[in-house]
Amino acid sequence: MIKPIVLYGNKILRQPCLPYNTVTQTDELVQDLWDTMYNANGVGLAAPQIGVEFRIFVIDLPDEKWKEVFINPRIIEYSGDDVIVDEACLSIPSMSAIVSRKDTIKIEWYDEYWTSHVEEFSGLKARVIQHEYDHLDGILYVDRTNIKYNIQMITSLQKLQRRDLDDMHIKYPVI
Ligand code: ZN
Repeated sequence: MIKPIVLYGNKILRQPCLPYNTVTQTDELVQDLWDTMYNANGVGLAAPQIGVEFRIFVIDLPDEKWKEVFINPRIIEYSGDDVIVDEACLSIPSMSAIVSRKDTIKIEWYDEYWTSHVEEFSGLKARVIQHEYDHLDGILYVDRTNIKYNIQMITSLQKLQRRDLDDMHIKYPVI
């Protein structure tokens, strides 16, 4: 089911999420995440973005022919270069900013069938995983930018916090 996307300013985006231990509702929650993400033309979505405080996110990167459900993920290693890329977020409409992240991560997680995995990812996959993983800890990409010096972004964030969304339009691929 398509859910409303929680926007910047809502405190659920700022709370560490709880480990997800309930097997029974997994199908429904995962389906809600997919439905909401595809409806918003996103490539990734974390549970707190639909108001659910559990450690789950989904990613679908069509260009990479790769989609995955991450339940209770844990990044166990960061490696490679620091890479700078423009990022955007479904919870922060009509904005993007340059964010530096590690090129490669190693992560362990459960999929929607509760099969455990450990794998290393690089490039775009690692970038999107790190963005979504941050959501589970109440961290947003704007926290990782040099926002103090970006007046335009501060104004836009304040607008969002006031729910003053009238002239905002999504221009970037969003995660
Ligand atoms: Zn996001």
